[in-house]
Amino acid sequence: MLIISILNFFSKNILIPKIMKICYSCGKEFDNKEMNKEHIPAKALFVGYPDDYKVNRITVPSCIKCNSDYSVDDEEFRNLIGIINSDISRDILSEKSAKSMIKIKNQVDRLVINQLGTIEGVEFEESAINNFHTKNFKGVFYKEYGYAIPETYKIVPFTEPTEQTKLLLHYLTDNFEWKVSGNRNVFGYIIQPSREVKNKKVDLKPASNDKIIACLDYNLSHTALVVAINTNQTRITKDLQEGF
Ligand SMILES: [Zn+2]
Repeated sequence: MLIISILNFFSKNILIPKIMKICYSCGKEFDNKEMNKEHIPAKALFVGYPDDYKVNRITVPSCIKCNSDYSVDDEEFRNLIGIINSDISRDILSEKSAKSMIKIKNQVDRLVINQLGTIEGVEFEESAINNFHTKNFKGVFYKEYGYAIPETYKIVPFTEPTEQTKLLLHYLTDNFEWKVSGNRNVFGYIIQPSREVKNKKVDLKPASNDKIIACLDYNLSHTALVVAINTNQTRITKDLQEGF
């Protein structure tokens, strides 16, 4: 009996170690009891593609709160991709988006209809789309560097092409190689610090106060540029002082 109770003691207290994980999004620790993971990008973007496209998708550890916070945004973005999707082979994706939009009652208010009664476009919630890109940015950052981007960074997604965003996209695509989650037809990305490049095709490691930029390419039909800037000014001043 004594042996059994000793064994019980060990199995309860020692043999099952608490494995702590760092959440890719908030950077906080959580233990293996509430272990969760997040797919980057969301599974919804793989709908309509061959099953083997889903193999080797990026997964990152996520706390339950961050995992559920982003689920609505994923649906919103799938709707956007589905609506702008013109490839017949991906009709299932469009169909799913349409169904998902009909599901929500007041969605019809989003339709932009001209005087002839034809649909000119569909309005999307900008904040949901921005959250979606922010989530994927955090996901690829974690995947590349092994830690969550510090909270002091302000993350700003750009989805409209401008002269400035085009310059940044060129910086990324001219100097570095695309990386993939699952299949390039579904998701490709480049994430790098914004810095002078000495050797092309060689990944840079972020230093404190580096601005981080990423391009995220979805379904070969929609690209977002994301910029992250450290807003911790005291740190910037300190680094500058040390540098001189
Ligand atoms: Zn979290």
